[in-house]
Parts: sequence; structure tokens; C-alpha cells
Amino acid sequence: MRTLSGSILRVGLLGTLLLALSATASLAQQRGGGGPDQPAVTVHGQTYTPRSILARNMGSEEDQTTAFPPHRVIGNIFYVGTRTLSSYLITTPAGHILINSTYERNVKTIQKSVTELGFKFGDIKILLGTHAHGDHQEGDALLKELTGAQVLVMQEDVPALEAIKPGGKAHPIDRRLHDGETVTLGGTTLVAHLTPGHTHGSTTWTMRAEEGGKNLNVVFASSYRSGNTVTPDVESEFNRTFKTVRSLPCDVPLGDHPAQYNMTAKHARLKSGAPNPFIDPANCWIEADIQEAMFRAQLQMQQKAARPQ
Ligand SMILES: [Zn+2]
Repeated sequence: MRTLSGSILRVGLLGTLLLALSATASLAQQRGGGGPDQPAVTVHGQTYTPRSILARNMGSEEDQTTAFPPHRVIGNIFYVGTRTLSSYLITTPAGHILINSTYERNVKTIQKSVTELGFKFGDIKILLGTHAHGDHQEGDALLKELTGAQVLVMQEDVPALEAIKPGGKAHPIDRRLHDGETVTLGGTTLVAHLTPGHTHGSTTWTMRAEEGGKNLNVVFASSYRSGNTVTPDVESEFNRTFKTVRSLPCDVPLGDHPAQYNMTAKHARLKSGAPNPFIDPANCWIEADIQEAMFRAQLQMQQKAARPQ
């Protein structure tokens, strides 16, 4: 008898739980479409879902296209992007390097920010990118048209880049890079680290910057966000990538979306004479921690769904 009432109670609880779960799922579907917003992971005291990470990265349409006040980050590195899409100008006596043209509609905005800082847009000699998605590299053709810059891309991202053709323009590619290759201009050298997963050629760039007599390691992170379905290819790419990024020497963490390194808050703390808030070695791997937790949780959810009932 006791057993029977126990199982009735369990069935009752399970039924309620299932009802509650399906109610949550349908609510999530209504909100954003495309299925429930799962999994949720908590990293360093903050909870993230796939949609909350995407919203944090992209902001509104206005955030994607409105210039963030251009500023010097550290040494010869300047921020010239929008509120949610990073673009970095690295100045040298032999001309400049730009990382990420972002959307084509942002190229003129980037040009204005470069000019506001007192540099010449036409002095950009080399254009690099973090990964073959439109929000980071759609503007490559227009930027090359306006500056004559050489476009250097990671070999593994070539097919995806060739598919980015705003207004039918072919994606310019002047040199194909491989993992560990360097790009040098006017005494500044950047190293291309293949950190695939988000795209097959996703690239994390590193360089040294001087400030106050110190030589600092700067890391321009790419996105390490996994898609909704993790294929075996992508799984092994990310397993390698999270190891690679944590092995990089890092004093100044940057990213291809400003939220990845808390740019707005750090920028607000910029003050001449005070320590540079962008020097933040303690927080170098927070973004990798968030994305790896999400990746592992997604994998687990996927494996559970694939298991026979
Ligand atoms: Zn992307």
C-alpha cells in the first residue's frame, strides 16, 4: 500500500514537472522562436543561455551600427568599432593594420572613427579578421576598395569568406595564412592562432604592446560560441581550441564583440595617470570559461536527446 501510494505520488510529481517544463519551453518559443532557450549555465556567478549570449554580443540593430567612442586601448592599438562589433586599428610608422571590417554598412563609420583619432584611413595597409561571419568580415571588399589594403585570411575560413559577397562583390583574398603564421608591418608583429569551432578558420590574434615601459601580451579573441548542434568535427575543434586559447600568454584580453571583455565598463574607467583598465590578466579566460561551459552543456543535452528511451 505504502509502495503504491508512493508511486502514485511520484507519477503525480512527474506529471506536474513535465507540464511545467513544456510550459517553459512554449514560453521560450513564443519569445524568441526556434525552440527552447537551453541549456542555461552559471559561470562566475552569472547565468547564461544561448539567446542571452547572442543578445549580449549583438545588442540592437542600432548598437551594431553606432560608433562607440574611438579610443586608444593600449600601446599602438585603438578601438574603432561600433557598440557591439569590434574593430581594431593597429598603427605603425609604415601604415596601419585593421582587424575586422564588420558589416559593409559600418565601413564608413570605422573610417570616421579612424579619422577622429587623427589617423588616415588610406594608410591602412593590411586587413585581418577574426572569423568568416558577416558581422566581422562583410566589409572587407569595400574596405579594400577604399584603402587598397591587402586582405590576409586564415586558409580554413576561405570557403566561408568566399560566400560573403555583399552586393555581389567577390571577397578579396590576397594572402592565405596558416596556424602560427605571423603578419609584420612597421615593427609590429601579430601571430595568427587557429582557434576553430565557431567557424573552421576562426582566428585568435596576439601581439605585444608597450605601455609605461612594460611589454604586454595582447589577445584579440575570436568568438568561441558553439552553434545549437555540435557536430563531431566541431566537437574536436572546440576541444583543441579551449586548450589553445588558455595556453596563450595574456595581459590584455580583447574580443570581437566588446561584451566579451567588458569594454564599456573598462572604457568608463580610462583616465590619464591611472592604471590602464584594459590590462586585466585575471579576467583573460572568463569568455573561454563561459563558452566552454555552454559547449559542454550543449553536448550533454545533445547526447541525452540521442539516447534511446
Ligand atoms: Zn560569428
